[in-house]
Amino acid sequence: MSRDLPGLTLDELATELDSRQRAVEVLKWLGSLKELPAELPLLMPGVSHRVWSTFRQQHGVSRLRVSERSVSEDGTTKYAVDVGGATVETVRIPAKGRSTICISSQAGCTRRCVFCATKELGFIRQLKAEEMVAQYLLARAEAPASAPARNVVFMGMGEPMDNLDEVLRAVEVLTQGPFPQLRQQSVTVSTSGVLPGMVRFLEESKASLALSLNATTDEVRARVMPQNKTWPIGALLEALREAAAVDPDRDTFVEYVLFKDVNDTDDDADRLVALLAGLPARVNLIPYNPFPGTGLETPGPERVKAFHARVARQGQLCLIRWPRGREIAAACGQLVLAQDGGPGFLPAAVALS
Ligand code: SF4
Repeated sequence: MSRDLPGLTLDELATELDSRQRAVEVLKWLGSLKELPAELPLLMPGVSHRVWSTFRQQHGVSRLRVSERSVSEDGTTKYAVDVGGATVETVRIPAKGRSTICISSQAGCTRRCVFCATKELGFIRQLKAEEMVAQYLLARAEAPASAPARNVVFMGMGEPMDNLDEVLRAVEVLTQGPFPQLRQQSVTVSTSGVLPGMVRFLEESKASLALSLNATTDEVRARVMPQNKTWPIGALLEALREAAAVDPDRDTFVEYVLFKDVNDTDDDADRLVALLAGLPARVNLIPYNPFPGTGLETPGPERVKAFHARVARQGQLCLIRWPRGREIAAACGQLVLAQDGGPGFLPAAVALS
């Protein structure tokens, strides 16, 4: 497969251009752009005309078209991105000193998480690595100088472990020098708990991992995430424990979306602490972003705070992730709602760290 430039690793680029130095020059050029051009330029500084012409004939740029852009009061910006035959969404979330870019790894999703509207879309197609990197590039271009795009989370549409070859490639590209050169810890791949993919990811990547847990018993988890019948809580946490023993420096997050009267009791808080005992992971508590038809509700802020306090009091590192960009439907679980009146897509896990 001939890949577009944003999907090529430095090694591949060096092979194609017959020089590592030329490959570095091309990546520096990519990093200097405000936005991707429609096509590769006729000339590339530092690369001979002959070599560049050959490269140019074989590779495109994966420039994505933004069909809609919504900006919330807090600056969170949601992009509806046309990837050819499908629309996915990318979100830029500004914070003090840096922005986080939330990207999609699939158009639609095959998983059936009850709380996530993406399932209503069904599966449309896999995204290629260059389409993931291009999402980062387009959102990065609009990040203010005071909050450059330093973090990427694979928490948009899709289950990354179901498109793992392309996700691993995108992570490699995003973290390679001289550009984009994001830190491995600054790239977080989220999973709803697809165990075989998760194990492979933990073996092959140093990037951060977020497991979307969302329940403390298999019975409740299977209600909100049916695949739990295949990969139950114990097996998922065991895999995280084994990976932490091999690589204790990896950042691991456990995402826990709080649903009123489903998984937000004091007993749940205690069980959560017990389940995670000895695992070097941070819990992100995410009050559910409701949408019609799920039968699930959001706990009140006092319940969320009480749950957090009970978990934190027992020594478990735990943060509340209050929703961002809710009025533009850019928060977790809401992303397509405002666009088509239908369901939104996003995953359980938005750890905007
Ligand atoms: S939460 Fe993630 S894995 Fe589950 S249906 Fe939504 S996009 Fe798919």
